[in-house]
Amino acid sequence: MKAHDGMYIDGAWRPAVGRDTIAVVNPADEQEIDRVPAGTAEDVDTAVRAARAALPGWAATPPAERGALIGALRDVLVARQDEIAETVTAEMGSPPPFAQKVQAGLPVLVAGSYAELAAEYAFEEKVGNSVVHHEPVGVVGAITPWNYPLHQIVAKVAPALAAGCTVVLKPAEDTPLTAQLFAEAVDQAGIPAGVFNLVTGLGPVAGQALAEHEGVDLVSFTGSTAVGRRIAATAGAAIKKVALELGGKSANVILPSADLDRAVAVGVANVMSNSGQTCSAWTRMLVHTSQYERAVELAAEAAGRYGDRIGPLVSAKQRERVRGYIEKGVAEGARLVAGGAEPPCEQGYFVSPTVFADVTPEMTVAQEEIFGPVLTILRYEDEDDAVRIANGTVYGLAGAVWAGEEAEAVTFARRLDTGQVDINGGRFNPRAPFGGYKQSGVGRELGTHGLAEYLQTKSLQF
Ligand code: NAD
Repeated sequence: MKAHDGMYIDGAWRPAVGRDTIAVVNPADEQEIDRVPAGTAEDVDTAVRAARAALPGWAATPPAERGALIGALRDVLVARQDEIAETVTAEMGSPPPFAQKVQAGLPVLVAGSYAELAAEYAFEEKVGNSVVHHEPVGVVGAITPWNYPLHQIVAKVAPALAAGCTVVLKPAEDTPLTAQLFAEAVDQAGIPAGVFNLVTGLGPVAGQALAEHEGVDLVSFTGSTAVGRRIAATAGAAIKKVALELGGKSANVILPSADLDRAVAVGVANVMSNSGQTCSAWTRMLVHTSQYERAVELAAEAAGRYGDRIGPLVSAKQRERVRGYIEKGVAEGARLVAGGAEPPCEQGYFVSPTVFADVTPEMTVAQEEIFGPVLTILRYEDEDDAVRIANGTVYGLAGAVWAGEEAEAVTFARRLDTGQVDINGGRFNPRAPFGGYKQSGVGRELGTHGLAEYLQTKSLQF
């Protein structure tokens, strides 16, 4: 796809106010593939005004009609699935099979779920002598990261539109082409002008202008905890609603009764998926001391088998950040059993699948989000110890528990301070709420919980 040189605002591609552009780089070969305009506060303002003007009409559109248009959007995403996958591969490096199945496939499921939910949702409900109306919050400022570029957009835009909100999106600067493709899809689906608007640009410029804009009623942000904290502070000062999906350091707890081989194999695959650039990745594997050495052996073997099946990281900056963490792990005394900080090849932002053993809970690599293909394996003595270690970070986004019997895993899962737990592997459910405890975020995405984020309630008493 050739990049647009403007912003998608009020149903048309319009020239940006400034002349600055942002380079889009293919992380596999470090070559520039295109450039997109770097939006300014003025572009953001134009987009917010368009969204504001479109709000009354869209909010008054019957939910079933909104659902039908989201369904049409889903169909365009299906029709353009190959192009989406190729674009994601080009700008963020996902290997083609993963780009097809997950990067392009997941958004179809999520958009499809909101096409249905818009029609099914009880926007009015009776509570005793009252009727509660669930009304759209208003204009949404959506700010998204690059790791699942289309999924992150759809996980915000689809529920916002289903709720009757209008949206201004500021996508990640590393992956603007996927966002432009999404804007084309919105246009093709026949969603009315101004309901969805796109401003590409840098976070501290366009992103900040969007978060601060007084015409924005809710800021929905996915990204780092550091930026999320800033956005929450800005929104707090204006008493603006905010939804935050932030980082994670999730624990994969393997109880002694589990099928160790399977738990380790799935655990390693989970961390290496998307080259470790998944906020919900199970980056800490917790193994009982009696099975510890066997688990380390299995994990090292599994990581060693990856070869060229793992894609690059999104950017030189991310690669350097991840290499820095690997060096820190070694310096703090963790035992490297696979991979390492040395780049596996000369070109591209690659990092080898890396596994650390003898990791203790206070080490940096066990506390901070690395966002790369790095697994840490920690030892526990008993269940209480495992709970203490699993809950011992500032995060609480996801996690996993493995046991011989599901009931045993569920009992353990109840003790975890985290927003999502996969039992004996789990399976993705696009209707299940996703979001964090503690510093992993505020609010939920997906399903009815995700829809409710974009609604406010009014009660009428009779
Ligand atoms: P980031 O926070 O730097 O960027 C995310 C988005 O925020 C981008 O669009 C960026 O342009 C924008 N941004 C940056 N500074 C801003 C500012 N001052 N004001 C407004 N917007 C600003 O994060 P990243 O490096 O792109 O992504 C990696 C991080 O995101 C990781 O920590 C990861 O855990 C987190 N993440 C979380 C989830 C989740 O669902 N919880 C999903 C993906 C990524």
